[in-house]
Amino acid sequence: MLDDVAAAWRTARHPVVFTGAGMSTESGLPDFRSAQGLWKQRPESLATMAALRREPDEFYFFYQWRIARLWEAAPNAGHAALAALAAAGFVKRLITQNVDGLHQRAGGEAVELHGTLRTVSCLRCGAGYDSRTLLPAEPGWEEAYRAGRYRPGRECTCPHCGGGLRPDVVLFGESLPGAAWEEAARASRAADFFVVVGSSLAVGPANLCPAFALESGARLAVINAEDTHLDGRAAWLFRDKAAGVLAAIRERIIG
Ligand SMILES: [Zn+2]
Repeated sequence: MLDDVAAAWRTARHPVVFTGAGMSTESGLPDFRSAQGLWKQRPESLATMAALRREPDEFYFFYQWRIARLWEAAPNAGHAALAALAAAGFVKRLITQNVDGLHQRAGGEAVELHGTLRTVSCLRCGAGYDSRTLLPAEPGWEEAYRAGRYRPGRECTCPHCGGGLRPDVVLFGESLPGAAWEEAARASRAADFFVVVGSSLAVGPANLCPAFALESGARLAVINAEDTHLDGRAAWLFRDKAAGVLAAIRERIIG
């Protein structure tokens, strides 16, 4: 099946790749849903502007925890394989639901449908900062949270004007960035070969991208450890982690 999918990928006119959280679990970034034991609420209620205003302790700690993990993580062999395939002309567009920036850190480019956790910006003056700005300077803040002693500090306010900072991710209830969504939809409709990697296709409207590709007659490959609702329409289905499969395909296409 690897030889077969590699042959189809190599000869595709407009190959498009779509990635989700499963792309980054092998970089040591847990799908944050699996870490939700740390939080009383589900991410759907915590990752909102309402939560930022109503329960800033929970909101900021949730993002600080994720930002700390993000900058500790490194791209894996799957990110490297996709960057190499793109550099060799075998990926026309890479669309990602991830906010970790690992595709870019591997040397690739990505259309980021859900924004990025690599930067934060000021709610008052709009100034943008590296997201590490948001991390508390004093050690022990994660333990303080678990002990109920955590409070968001000055790091959560804009160094320029003192306004509140927010992560540059799409929060629940917010629309996708218009330009990114249009580009993703256009690329998906133009695809003749579409690869889903590490996404269970549970989150809309991002999960419309493979549907657009199928409507346009693209052949679909799915590389995901769990079921997706499009598995039955996939010409190639790898019920597996991402990095090993992508590295094997890369080997077959460009050596
Ligand atoms: Zn500001």
